[in-house]
This record gives sequence, C-alpha cells and structure tokens, in this order.
Amino acid sequence: MEQQRHPLLEVKGNKAPSRLPLPGSRLKRGPDQMDNALEPEKKRIRGLGTVTKIATSHPRAPPLTSVPQTQGQTTAQKVPKKTGPWCSTAITTVSKSKKPVAAVPAQKPDTSAVPPMVGGKKPSKRPAWDLKGQLGDLNIELKRYRERTQTLDQENQQLRAQLKEAQQEAKALGEERRTLKEELAKVQAQAKQGQQELGNLSARVLELEERLGMQEGLVQELQKEQLELQEERRGLAARLEEQERRLQASEVALSSSQAEVASLRQETAAQVTLLAERGERLHGLEMERRRLHNQLQELKGNIRVFCRVRPVLPGEPTPPPGLLLFPAGPGGPSDPPTRLSLSRSDERRGTLNGAPAPTTRHDFSFDRVFPPGSGQEEVFEEIAMLVQSALDGYPVCIFAYGQTGSGKTFTMEGGPGGDPQLEGLIPRALRHLFSVAQELGDQGWTYRFVASYVEIYNETVRDLLATGARKGQGGECKIRRAGPGSEELTVTNARYVSVSCEKEVEALLYLARQNRAVACTAQNERSSRSHSVFQLQITGEHTGRGLQCGAPLNLVDLAGSERLDPGLALGAEERERLRETQAINSSLSTLGLVIMALSNKESHVPYRNSKLTYLLQNSLGGSAKMLMFVNISPLEENVSESLNSLRFASKVNQCVIGTAQANRK
Ligand code: ADP
Ligand code: MG
Repeated sequence: MEQQRHPLLEVKGNKAPSRLPLPGSRLKRGPDQMDNALEPEKKRIRGLGTVTKIATSHPRAPPLTSVPQTQGQTTAQKVPKKTGPWCSTAITTVSKSKKPVAAVPAQKPDTSAVPPMVGGKKPSKRPAWDLKGQLGDLNIELKRYRERTQTLDQENQQLRAQLKEAQQEAKALGEERRTLKEELAKVQAQAKQGQQELGNLSARVLELEERLGMQEGLVQELQKEQLELQEERRGLAARLEEQERRLQASEVALSSSQAEVASLRQETAAQVTLLAERGERLHGLEMERRRLHNQLQELKGNIRVFCRVRPVLPGEPTPPPGLLLFPAGPGGPSDPPTRLSLSRSDERRGTLNGAPAPTTRHDFSFDRVFPPGSGQEEVFEEIAMLVQSALDGYPVCIFAYGQTGSGKTFTMEGGPGGDPQLEGLIPRALRHLFSVAQELGDQGWTYRFVASYVEIYNETVRDLLATGARKGQGGECKIRRAGPGSEELTVTNARYVSVSCEKEVEALLYLARQNRAVACTAQNERSSRSHSVFQLQITGEHTGRGLQCGAPLNLVDLAGSERLDPGLALGAEERERLRETQAINSSLSTLGLVIMALSNKESHVPYRNSKLTYLLQNSLGGSAKMLMFVNISPLEENVSESLNSLRFASKVNQCVIGTAQANRK
C-alpha cells in the first residue's frame, strides 16, 4: 500500500528543500547569512523553475495534476548539476528580473575589508613617499584578503557539502522518478488491461443482454404455457372430480355385483354338479336312443326298398291314364303310399274283333312309394334316420336302381341348375350328418368325415375326384385292403378328401360332374353306363368316455338297368354296347345275388363277382343297413323296363338281412 501512495505527497513532505546557492550572493555573506539571504532567491527560482519546467520538460510529463509541481521542484533542485540553455536561462531570468543584491558588488573591493576610516571617510591616497604607510595599508589589505579567502574556502566547503547533499537528493529523486515511471507503466498496463476487461465485459454485457432478451421471450412463452397448463389443470381437476364421483358409484355397483357374483358362483357350482348329472343321464339317453333307433330301423327292415316314380317331363308323351296307380295303404289316403300298380296291355293277346287288348295289372308293395309329385325334401325325410345310423356306427348303403332316364341321378345328386329345392340325397345327407355331429359334439363326441367318389365302368374303377392331369382320364384304380389283416377296403389312386361343411361337398360333386363330362362321348353316355359310388367314411370319438364308432355311408347311383333290345342289329357300336350291358347286368345281378345270399345267410356271399359288390362288401354285411330306391319312368314306352325294375326290387324287398350290429369299439 505504501507504493500506491502518491509520490507528490512524499515530495511535498520532503523536509530537504533545495539549497542551491546563488554564487553572487554568497560572496557578500557569511555562512550564517547564506540561508536567509538565499530564501527569497530559492522562492523565486522555484516559481521560475516551475514556469521554465513547463516550457522545457513538460511535454514529456503525463497529464497528472500533481506531477508538474513535483517535477518542477525536482528539476529546480537539479539546476546546479546541469549546464546548457535551461540552466543559463534560469540564471539569466533571475539576474534580469531582480535588482542585483550582492552579486554585482563582487567586482568591487569589499568595503568591509577596508580599514576603518576616520569619520567614516575613505583614507586619502598616501603620498608616494609614505612607503611605510603604504606598506601598512597593503598588509592590512592582505590580511583582509586572507580572511576573505578563508571565509570563501569555508563557504566553498559548505557549498560542496550542500552540492553533495543535493546530488544525493537528486539521485533519490531520480530513483523515485523511475519508481514512479514503473508505477505509471504498471498503472497504464492496468488501465489497458482494465480497458480490455471493460471491452470483454461490454461484449459479455451485450451477450448477456441478448440472452436476457431470449430468456425474457422464453419466460413469456413459459408464462403463456403456464397459463394454458393451469387451464388444463383446472379442466383435469374437474374431470378427476367427475371420475371420482363415477368411481364411487362404480364401487358401490361393484360391491353389489361382487355379492351377486358370489351368489351366482354358488349357483353355478350347483348347476355344474347338476350338469354333470344331466350329462351322465344324457349320455345314457343317447345310448338308449341309438339302441331304440336301431331297433326301429330293424323293425322297418335292414333292407328297405323305396319306389320313386319321376314326373313326366315337358315334351314327353302323356302316358295313358291308369298306367301307374298308387293305391292307398291300409290306413287310408292319409297313410304314406306303399303300393304301386302297373298296367300293361298285352299286345300279343289282341283280339281279332278290334276290342282293346287286355291289360295285365302288376301290383307291387314296397316300404315306401313316392309318386311323381314327391319332392326331394319329402324323400330325404324318409331316409334321414337311416343316414343317422351311420353316425351311430352302422354301415349304410343307399342305391338308386332303374333304367336310364328314370331319375336315379336326380334322386342321388339333385336336379340341374343348383336349385336348393332340387338338391339330392348326397348333399342333404351330408348336411344332416354335419349338423347332428355338431349336436353330438356338445355331448363330447368328435366326428371326422372323409369322402371319396369313384365310378365303376365296365368293371374298372376310376376316380371321380381326380384333379389336374388325371382329370377325366384317371388311371385305373384298384380295390385293396387298407392293410394286412384289415377288413377295411380302400381304392388305390383315388382321392380321399376330408370334408366338414356343405361347401366342400358341393365342390366335390361339381368336380365329379366335370370328370364325368370329360369322359362322356356322344355315342356313349357313360354316366348311365357306370355305377357312381360316393363313400363317406365316418369316425366318431368320445375321448371323455374312451368310446369310438365309425361306419361308411355309401350312396350309389347304379348304371342303367335296361336290357339291350335283342332284335337290334349287331354293329360295332352295338357290340360294344352289348359288352357294357353284359357287364352292367352282371354286376347288378351280382348285387341281387349278394343280397339274396346275405338274406339266406348263405356261407358264401359272392362279393368278388363284381367290383361293385367287392367295394361295398363291408357295407352290405349282416351289420349293415341297406336302402334301395327303384326309380321308375312314368312313360308308356318304358313300361317293360319299369316292370323289370319293379320285379328286381321286389325280390330285394323280400330279403331280410340278419340283425345289424353296430361297429363299436
Ligand atoms: P338317370 O340318372 O336315371 O338316367 P336322371 O336323373 O338323369 O335319370 O333323370 C332324367 C331326367 O329326368 C333329368 O332331366 C331329370 O332332371 C329329370 N327328373 C328325374 N327325376 C325327376 C323328378 N323327381 N322330378 C323332376 N325331374 C326329374
Ligand atoms: Mg344317371
């Protein structure tokens, strides 16, 4: 801190003022008088020194208010040391401005050294002769000069001492000046640094102001946001309140619901127990139903024959009245008809008198007769129960027998155009099976259905479900046992398609129709010359009780049963026709023989005599149920064939196959 004190103060406080002597004045005074005599001179020199200093050295001095005076003083004190214009100027100034006090008389002889004169007057010049007096005067004067010289020596010494002191002072002042310069440089550096810092600070201030501006903008935005949030918060608070109210209401409702649930659980538990009991009973009832159902079917006969007469089609000649009659049953007209009478005029027994030829009436009785007006639905209702037997595990075979054009295909597959009313037995039977299987599913039964559709033409088996390259020209299929020691038969090269809905069945029937159309030629309406066999393998499983049942359902559209006109010329085509017909007749008669053999419980059943009976052997045995539709044309021209068909069907109808056994495992 001591360094920071202003140097001026120290100079002011310096108790060693310059004692620069003025040579002239010192000559007249003694050493004691010197100081006093010098004082006014010093004052003048200081003042002038100040002025002179301003004129000469001031330009280099910094603009500090206190410095000039100090420096002025310092410079003034240095005067004795310096030579040159500054010094001479100062002395000249002093000598000019003031009346010479003591310096001028230095030229004259000091009066004070002259021997005292009488009366204060100068001694008059001694006569030349007064040598003694003159010598005395000279001695006195010498003595006075000696004293004077002594005084001057003393004064000189004093002045030297003063000079030395002044030099020391000047040296000290020089050092002080250096120190001050250094300090000044420091201060300047500090000032410069300060300015730099100031600049930095200004930049910083600007930056901060900018940031402040941004922050203010941000603050404004935040304030806005805050306001919005406050608004939202108020909305949320209102919603929360509403939710809380609703929650409370829900809690009340919940507790009442919980109570209700508890009571419902109890009820449910009771019902589960009840349900289990009912399930048990239901199963018992289902098994009982199956048993009774089977009994009923057996009572109806394991071989049943239905006769269906198709209507006269547009463009066909109206048959004479009474050609076909449907006499009422024993229960009257309300009973479903079971009888049919066919009257045939015996041309050969015509009379010569022109009376009409006598007619022979043939009466037939079947399990059911469907006159021309009977619809597909009515027919199906009659066989629905039989079809269901297949689900219960009894093999079922349904045949359509009759001459070509009698309505076999219409009965089995349905009428043209996809009219649902005209749907035949195959789609209806499958739909029925699917729906019953679904109902049985509720009791724990799971059913699987696999369909195949083949035709047997001229004793060769072909797949009607063939697709792609095999379509229509499918290679011959073979009937083989499913495995060594297995009773089950399978057709090699034939597709077995898993089905579970009507649409899939429709697609299969469509494919079969296409396959038949490809194989058909103009000369040879092959579909009527071949047997079409639709087989459905049914497997049912009750996993809960470890029960299994399965049986095939066969729906067979037989080849036309008409015989070849014996009077026909035997051309190549006719010979081919004859071979076909023989094959058909052979297989149809084999079917009849098989049924007979089964009916008569013969030890040998000639299944192997035809492909048809061989393929169907597992569905024709003692445990199977069989239904034959005999399809009849209403036309007069077909009477003969109709009679043949009715006779064949009657024979079948007389057969009774032993009590059917369900295929249960
Ligand atoms: P098949 O198969 O025995 O040769 P179709 O079933 O082809 O005979 O029948 C011959 C014609 O008679 C077909 O045009 C068919 O639509 C028609 N048809 C057969 N039965 C009936 C019926 N019950 N109702 C109406 N049309 C029938
Ligand atoms: Mg047909």
